Amino acid sequence: EQMRSDFIANASHELRTPISVLLGCIQTLRGSARDDPEAQAEFFGLMQTQAERMSRLVDDLLSLSRIELNEHTLPSEQVDVPHIVRQVVEALAFNAQARGIRIETDFPGELPTIPGDPDELSQVFQNLIDNAVKYGAEDSIVRITARVARDDIPPSLPGESACLAIAIRDHGEGIPPEHLPRLTERFYRVDTARSRELGGTGLGLAIVKHVVNRHRGALTIDSEPGEGSIFTVFLPAAGVKSEPAAA
Ligand code: ADP
Repeated sequence: EQMRSDFIANASHELRTPISVLLGCIQTLRGSARDDPEAQAEFFGLMQTQAERMSRLVDDLLSLSRIELNEHTLPSEQVDVPHIVRQVVEALAFNAQARGIRIETDFPGELPTIPGDPDELSQVFQNLIDNAVKYGAEDSIVRITARVARDDIPPSLPGESACLAIAIRDHGEGIPPEHLPRLTERFYRVDTARSRELGGTGLGLAIVKHVVNRHRGALTIDSEPGEGSIFTVFLPAAGVKSEPAAA
C-alpha cells in the first residue's frame, strides 16, 4: 500500500511540473506576449517541450501498467533476440550519431531463440541502449554482445542451466555503487535534473525490470564511476522453472 501511494504521489508530481509550465505559458501568451511574435515563438517552443515530456511520461506509465498486468503469464512466442536488438540499434542510430557514438554489435551466428514477447523485449533493449547513448560519453563506443551463459548465471535464477545473455556496455560517467540497488525503482534517478534535461522519465529501468521478471530472467548492473556501465539481461534459454521475483 505504501509503495502504491508513493508511486501515485511521484507520478502526480512528475506531471504537475509540465502542467504548471504549460499553464504559465498560456497565461503569458494571452497577456504580456499577446502582441509579441518573438516571445510567442519562445513560449510555443517551451509548450511543445513540456507537452512532449508529459506524453513520454504517460506512454511509460501505460507500458508499465500493461506489463504488470501480464507479469504472471509466461510469454509463449519463440523470439530471435539478436534480430530484435539489431532493429533497436537501427532505430537509435540517429540519436547515437548526434552524439558521435558508435554502436557495435557482436553476436555469434548460432544463438538459440527463447520464449518471449517481442514487443516487450524490444522495449527492454530500446530503454537500455537509449540510456547507453544518453549517458555514454560523446564520441565513445557502445558495445552490445550476446552469448549463451552457463557458468555465470545470476544466483537469482537457481534452476536455469542456460541463459541467453545480452550485455550493453557504455563508456560514460558510470554509476556510483550506492545507487545500484535502487536503480530499477520507479522514478529513481542518480541525477534528476540531468535525467529530465535528457528527456528521461525515470521509468525506463523499472519497465526493463518488470519485463525481465515476466520472462523469468535477471538484470545485472556493473558500473565503474568514470569508466562506464554494463547492463546485462539474462533470459532463460532452456526450460522455465523459477517463479518471477516479487515486484
Ligand atoms: P531515465 O529516464 O532517467 O533515464 P531510467 O529508469 O532509464 O530513467 O534510469 C534511471 C537512472 O539510472 C537514470 O536517471 C540515470 O541516473 C541512471 N542510468 C541509467 N542508465 C545509465 C547508464 N547507462 N549510465 C549511467 N547512468 C545510468
